[in-house]
Amino acid sequence: MDYVNIIVDISHEKVDRVFQYRVPEALRDHLQVGMQVEAPFGRGNRLTKGYVVGLTDRPDYPPEKIKELQGVVKGSVKAESQLIALAAWMRERYGSTMNHALKTVLPVKQKTRQKQSKKLVRRITKEEAEKLLREYRRKHYRAKARLLEALLEKDAIRSQEAADTLKISAAVIRGLEAEGVIRVETETLYRNPFAGHFEKKEQKVILNTEQTRAVEGIWADYEKGIRRTYLLHGVTGSGKTEVYMELIARVIQKGRQAVVLIPEIALTFQTVRRFHERFGDRVSVMHSRLSEGERYDQFLRAKEGEIDVIIGPRSALFAPFSSIGMIIIDEEHESSYKSETVPRYHAREAAIFRAGMCGASVLLGSATPSVESYHQAQNGTYGLYRLTGRIGEALLPKVSIIDLRAELKAGNRSIFSRKLREAMEERLRLSQQMMLFLNRRGLSGFVSCRSCGEAIRCPHCDVTLSLHVGGSLKCHYCGYETPMPEACPACGSRYISGFRAGTQQIEREVKKLFPRARVLRMDYDTTRTKESYEQILTSFGKGEADVLVGTQMIVKGHDFSNVTLVGVLAADLSLHASDYRASERTFQLLTQAVGRAGRGSQAGEAVIQTYLPEHYSIRTAAAQDYEAFFQQEMLYRKLLSYPPIAFMLGIYLSGPQEEFLKTCSEQLGELIQRFSVEGLIVIGPAAAALSRKQDLYRRVIYLKHPEESVLLNVKKALEQELEKSTVWQKIYIQFDYNPLNAY
Ligand code: ADP
Ligand code: ZN
Ligand code: ZN
Repeated sequence: MDYVNIIVDISHEKVDRVFQYRVPEALRDHLQVGMQVEAPFGRGNRLTKGYVVGLTDRPDYPPEKIKELQGVVKGSVKAESQLIALAAWMRERYGSTMNHALKTVLPVKQKTRQKQSKKLVRRITKEEAEKLLREYRRKHYRAKARLLEALLEKDAIRSQEAADTLKISAAVIRGLEAEGVIRVETETLYRNPFAGHFEKKEQKVILNTEQTRAVEGIWADYEKGIRRTYLLHGVTGSGKTEVYMELIARVIQKGRQAVVLIPEIALTFQTVRRFHERFGDRVSVMHSRLSEGERYDQFLRAKEGEIDVIIGPRSALFAPFSSIGMIIIDEEHESSYKSETVPRYHAREAAIFRAGMCGASVLLGSATPSVESYHQAQNGTYGLYRLTGRIGEALLPKVSIIDLRAELKAGNRSIFSRKLREAMEERLRLSQQMMLFLNRRGLSGFVSCRSCGEAIRCPHCDVTLSLHVGGSLKCHYCGYETPMPEACPACGSRYISGFRAGTQQIEREVKKLFPRARVLRMDYDTTRTKESYEQILTSFGKGEADVLVGTQMIVKGHDFSNVTLVGVLAADLSLHASDYRASERTFQLLTQAVGRAGRGSQAGEAVIQTYLPEHYSIRTAAAQDYEAFFQQEMLYRKLLSYPPIAFMLGIYLSGPQEEFLKTCSEQLGELIQRFSVEGLIVIGPAAAALSRKQDLYRRVIYLKHPEESVLLNVKKALEQELEKSTVWQKIYIQFDYNPLNAY
């Protein structure tokens, strides 16, 4: 590599200013992305420090105009170096520009000035000060004497305090400074969103046998220098967080830091408080509710070594710690760990990469692990630990599955089955609370049969077809298209249609059926602002409503001890999402929903209504049997070569002109075929699930291959091809590695 691209300032605004230098002979084999280097800069050729962000053989300028790099800055690997190397990896793997990748991992620099505080520090010994004080008193230098008295008690005081309480003027301070009695120091004050909110508590729980096994197992590896990824599989309330905290405490003891990733929606006051009570002020959070200034300050505090633990969603992974010992990902199956903007990275994969750079272990926790992670635990790539029971007296609820087809036959056309209705009546009578849950997530116009429960699916991809305007059904993977049939292809019934009930309709029905019931609704519409989400939960927690109706938002990690009934209104809804993860998501949502019932000392009950009572996602979720679900799901993935059996790459195209986009997508498809890669499955091009968004048409191509490296090479070859012709610059192309949601 003859040339190197460097950035001189990692702050946001300037990362796209890349400067190119020639690599001196002696450094040719040593330079790596992320390294800190020195280079002559500007007219005066002042030596300036920068970071390597890329290496290349092709100069972007006339070679005679390119200056030579001075050298590599020796010393410890800085946090920034790691982050830049991480960005380079993300660029390679997920497809993005370096600039986009850098902006993802590096924080926005604050334009506003830091808050600063000055303090006055005594420079002379106590004996000298006492002598001087006697002299000041003799000479009636009252102000000077007052300050020196204060500085005899403490070695330093804040200049604010000197001015306010001691009434010392700036002139006096300057005088003392000139005499060499004091020194004025400036220190930066960081905004700490939790300062003084919590107190550290000394008492700890005593870990039970399973918790101890997990902690000691992982720690024994750590002590031996073994760094791995572990999966901690345990239901909500089984004590996973205590395991995390114990491991973190040990990592801190070794002088290293920890990162805890939590889905934003679960990052509640209670969670943060628990960590604060254990680790005091050495914990900080990063989340979108912090102001930009607060967020940037947490970045600086982490960099300056003021904190040991950072808690936050996906992006907390980019905390600038220099020596992370452990990265924890709670609820690791959550799809919010995947970025839906370029670079479309998955925090789990990025965490494992970062852990590799800094010699850390990764601990994934979940009650319903992702099929990927459990697969890795099964084949021995990840270590596996289990927590099998709930702590304390809380028991798993009693679950019934209600067949909605039978309800229809019995003449019940209401959205509530007879069983659910009875259960609701009973809770109202007993003044207990209930949650009604509609899992609408990832839904796109499927058509299903109310007699047999089947949704109409693609014969090639086994995902549901979506109804489009004009009445045709389409597959969003392969483009297969068929007219909307008159009758159910499976049973011949004419009761086929899309499902239209929403949370609002459920709310109305509850009020109609039980006029005295107090109902709260939580869905996208009622939680537009960040506070409204917390408000609804708080209000329900205080018992201000009997019924909480909502989408998947209501099933995530909230503990309401008075909730003894959870009703799932149409469990198969999420099964009909038009992508291959529909069953996995349904299992996760149902398991979580069922787990909401009976978190206190009262017995809980869950009623799952469905048109497909025999579906394995529903059966296994009702039985809270992860293992059985996993076995079934893997059969499906194997049969159709979906991840984790094969690797999948989504290529998303969008552009303002429909026909042109179509032509481009076909050309791209042909281009890929011409690579003639053995074993590569090319699906599409087809219209995307969302075929038009904000005036842009969208099309997709999916690639599948059993080997990850083959797929990544195809992506690389494509990126090179795309650079060759300007045609491709007229449309947008994004890559999505192992996509979670349909585009
Ligand atoms: P999870 O993270 O799996 O949901 P938690 O760690 O939050 O579980 O534990 C659930 C509750 O049980 C918490 O209130 C926690 O303090 C308590 N707990 C956990 N482990 C123990 C233990 N070994 N002894 C007593 N209480 C415990
Ligand atoms: Zn049917
Ligand atoms: Zn298809």
